[in-house]
Amino acid sequence: MTPLTDAPVAEARHARPIEDVVTEASMALWRTAGGPLKGLCPFHDEQAPSLPVRPERGLWYCFMCCDGGDVVKFVERIRGVTFPEAVAILAGQPEGSEEGQ
Ligand SMILES: [Zn+2]
Repeated sequence: MTPLTDAPVAEARHARPIEDVVTEASMALWRTAGGPLKGLCPFHDEQAPSLPVRPERGLWYCFMCCDGGDVVKFVERIRGVTFPEAVAILAGQPEGSEEGQ
Protein backbone atom coordinates (compact mmCIF):
# COMPACT_ATOMS: atom_id res chain seq x y z
CA MET A 1 0.00 0.00 0.00
CA THR A 2 1.26 3.46 -0.83
CA PRO A 3 1.69 5.44 2.36
CA LEU A 4 -0.37 8.59 2.41
CA THR A 5 1.49 11.82 2.78
CA ASP A 6 0.00 14.45 5.03
CA ALA A 7 -1.07 16.73 2.19
CA PRO A 8 -4.00 14.68 0.76
CA VAL A 9 -5.12 13.85 4.29
CA ALA A 10 -5.19 17.48 5.33
CA GLU A 11 -6.95 18.30 2.07
CA ALA A 12 -9.57 15.62 2.68
CA ARG A 13 -10.17 16.99 6.18
CA HIS A 14 -10.93 20.38 4.73
CA ALA A 15 -12.68 19.23 1.56
CA ARG A 16 -16.08 18.88 3.20
CA PRO A 17 -17.51 20.43 6.35
CA ILE A 18 -17.95 17.71 8.95
CA GLU A 19 -21.59 18.68 9.54
CA ASP A 20 -22.35 18.06 5.84
CA VAL A 21 -20.69 14.66 5.87
CA VAL A 22 -22.55 13.71 9.05
CA THR A 23 -25.98 14.83 7.83
CA GLU A 24 -25.40 13.06 4.51
CA ALA A 25 -24.93 9.88 6.49
CA SER A 26 -28.61 10.40 7.45
CA MET A 27 -27.76 11.69 10.88
CA ALA A 28 -29.85 14.64 11.92
CA LEU A 29 -28.02 17.35 13.80
CA TRP A 30 -29.43 19.73 16.37
CA ARG A 31 -27.90 23.02 17.35
CA THR A 32 -27.36 23.49 21.04
CA ALA A 33 -27.25 26.96 22.51
CA GLY A 34 -23.69 28.16 22.13
CA GLY A 35 -22.44 24.61 22.13
CA PRO A 36 -21.64 21.96 19.57
CA LEU A 37 -24.09 20.41 17.16
CA LYS A 38 -25.57 17.20 18.49
CA GLY A 39 -26.77 14.14 16.67
CA LEU A 40 -27.99 10.63 17.29
CA CYS A 41 -24.93 8.42 17.31
CA PRO A 42 -25.08 6.02 14.35
CA PHE A 43 -22.75 3.60 16.09
CA HIS A 44 -24.98 2.64 19.00
CA ASP A 45 -28.69 2.60 19.69
CA GLU A 46 -29.91 5.73 21.39
CA GLN A 47 -33.04 7.83 21.77
CA ALA A 48 -31.56 11.17 22.74
CA PRO A 49 -28.83 12.83 20.71
CA SER A 50 -25.55 12.50 22.56
CA LEU A 51 -23.00 12.79 19.82
CA PRO A 52 -21.42 16.24 19.73
CA VAL A 53 -20.07 17.48 16.43
CA ARG A 54 -17.83 20.53 16.47
CA PRO A 55 -17.66 22.06 13.01
CA GLU A 56 -15.14 24.69 14.05
CA ARG A 57 -12.70 21.95 14.98
CA GLY A 58 -13.98 19.33 12.55
CA LEU A 59 -14.34 16.83 15.38
CA TRP A 60 -16.98 14.45 16.73
CA TYR A 61 -17.03 12.30 19.83
CA CYS A 62 -19.49 9.82 21.29
CA PHE A 63 -19.23 9.41 25.05
CA MET A 64 -21.20 6.15 24.96
CA CYS A 65 -18.99 4.54 22.34
CA CYS A 66 -15.89 6.29 23.69
CA ASP A 67 -15.08 6.86 20.07
CA GLY A 68 -14.55 9.94 18.01
CA GLY A 69 -12.17 11.79 15.78
CA ASP A 70 -12.11 13.89 12.70
CA VAL A 71 -14.19 13.77 9.55
CA VAL A 72 -11.95 11.08 8.03
CA LYS A 73 -12.52 8.83 11.05
CA PHE A 74 -16.26 9.41 10.82
CA VAL A 75 -16.31 8.25 7.18
CA GLU A 76 -14.17 5.25 8.11
CA ARG A 77 -16.63 4.20 10.79
CA ILE A 78 -19.90 4.99 9.01
CA ARG A 79 -18.89 3.41 5.69
CA GLY A 80 -16.76 0.62 7.10
CA VAL A 81 -13.82 1.63 4.96
CA THR A 82 -10.11 1.99 5.58
CA PHE A 83 -8.38 5.29 6.31
CA PRO A 84 -7.05 5.77 2.74
CA GLU A 85 -10.49 4.92 1.33
CA ALA A 86 -12.11 7.47 3.62
CA VAL A 87 -9.60 10.09 2.46
CA ALA A 88 -10.41 9.24 -1.17
CA ILE A 89 -14.17 9.50 -0.53
CA LEU A 90 -13.77 12.92 1.07
CA ALA A 91 -11.55 14.04 -1.77
CA GLY A 92 -14.39 13.17 -4.13
CA GLN A 93 -12.66 10.27 -5.80
CA PRO A 94 -14.74 7.29 -6.92
CA GLU A 95 -15.06 4.67 -4.26
CA GLY A 96 -14.40 1.77 -6.59
CA SER A 97 -16.78 -1.07 -7.15
CA GLU A 98 -19.59 -1.43 -4.69
CA GLU A 99 -21.52 -4.66 -4.52
CA GLY A 100 -19.87 -6.02 -7.62
CA GLN A 101 -20.91 -3.27 -10.01
ZN1 LIG B 1 -22.24 6.09 20.13
